[in-house]
Amino acid sequence: NIAPPRVDADWTDFPGLYTPEGERWHYLDTAATAQKPQTVIDAMSRALGMDYATVHRGVYSRSAQMTLGFEAARKRVADFIGGKEDEVVFVRGATEGINLVAQSWGGANIGAGDRIMLSQLEHHSNIVPWQLLAKRVGAEIDVCPITEDGEIDLDALEAMLTPHHKIVALAHVSNVLGSVLSAKRAAAAAHAVGAKLLLDGCQSAPRMRLAMDELGCDFFVMSGHKLYGPTGIGVLWAREDILAEMPPWQGGGAMIDQVAFEKTTYAPAPQRFEAGTPMITEAIALHAALDYLEAAAGEAGMAGLYAHENSLVRQTREELSRINSIRLLGPESSAGIVSFVMEGVHPHDLGTILDEENVAIRAGHHCAQPLMEHLGIPATARASFGIYSDDSDIVALMRGIERTQKIFG
Ligand code: PMP
Repeated sequence: NIAPPRVDADWTDFPGLYTPEGERWHYLDTAATAQKPQTVIDAMSRALGMDYATVHRGVYSRSAQMTLGFEAARKRVADFIGGKEDEVVFVRGATEGINLVAQSWGGANIGAGDRIMLSQLEHHSNIVPWQLLAKRVGAEIDVCPITEDGEIDLDALEAMLTPHHKIVALAHVSNVLGSVLSAKRAAAAAHAVGAKLLLDGCQSAPRMRLAMDELGCDFFVMSGHKLYGPTGIGVLWAREDILAEMPPWQGGGAMIDQVAFEKTTYAPAPQRFEAGTPMITEAIALHAALDYLEAAAGEAGMAGLYAHENSLVRQTREELSRINSIRLLGPESSAGIVSFVMEGVHPHDLGTILDEENVAIRAGHHCAQPLMEHLGIPATARASFGIYSDDSDIVALMRGIERTQKIFG
């Protein structure tokens, strides 16, 4: 039995968990974006206020302080994911991280006749950047199927991979089904044919203990706003030797060594990939978010948070399975995410009725239209949990679903 996360009992840590009228808001859309702890809001506000200055350039002390704060955030992220500081590139979000890899590494290493392996359950942001690259260089995309349960079919992956595959790009945790990929096995399969593995860690980073070495991936991306931090910042982690060889993808200030009209030389990684004034205040607030997350997760750490969310998923699935008109999607055991459909009720209508009960779920295709096509449905209703979620959210959800049943007869 693992103790639940130490979020204060009345959720005052999270102003976003209340309505403007001061009522509890049952936020079940953490997979889309997480509510922010007050410490993150305070860190951001301090960084924008009395601490504010640019980084990397100023000779005055406040800029030097800000530079220390910005680089400390990089170190904090590296510690959180079990990587090295110089392997952490700050980007705008996971989407930008994948585009960076596709354009820089992909542009240099993927050519005509090469193949890119994705899966049926990917988010659009792990599909479209590869389509843009494939079209530009004349490469082909293959799609690994998923099992009945909604997991990426690793037997199929192993059978489909060939030496023509240069990259395998997969969701570590599905944002629709919550299914968790066995990263080690995917990495072994990719490496066996000489391909690299990119993990889309948007949904795993906020809910699982991470250690880049253990996962065995070559690239990992995540978004700060799903990690209880601000929008506008994300992370691309890439293995040091790979990052060192990657060409720049955007040009500008801060990413150079020497600039002349005849020839420009570039800064080493990670700065080579961070053109322009970076997301200074966002990095500092992300640092505060990781501090909050690990402190609140308590002694069991991120593994404890995973267990907490997983038990909420089991409880929710059990309650939902008692309702005949509800079909559950995805595996029994998943990482903090439950998708379902209700016969005769469009997920949008369900979402609207739940909204009247102060329950916020997501309804739609969740930026995974190829998965919806495969499941033969236009949309799902999705409840997703976070560090602040508890039984009362499930009670409120079920109350709203019962009301919906009554309304739709
Ligand atoms: N991949 C997955 C699995 C996601 O859940 C999301 C966000 N919904 C993204 C990628 C894109 O993240 P962002 O919009 O923060 O770049």
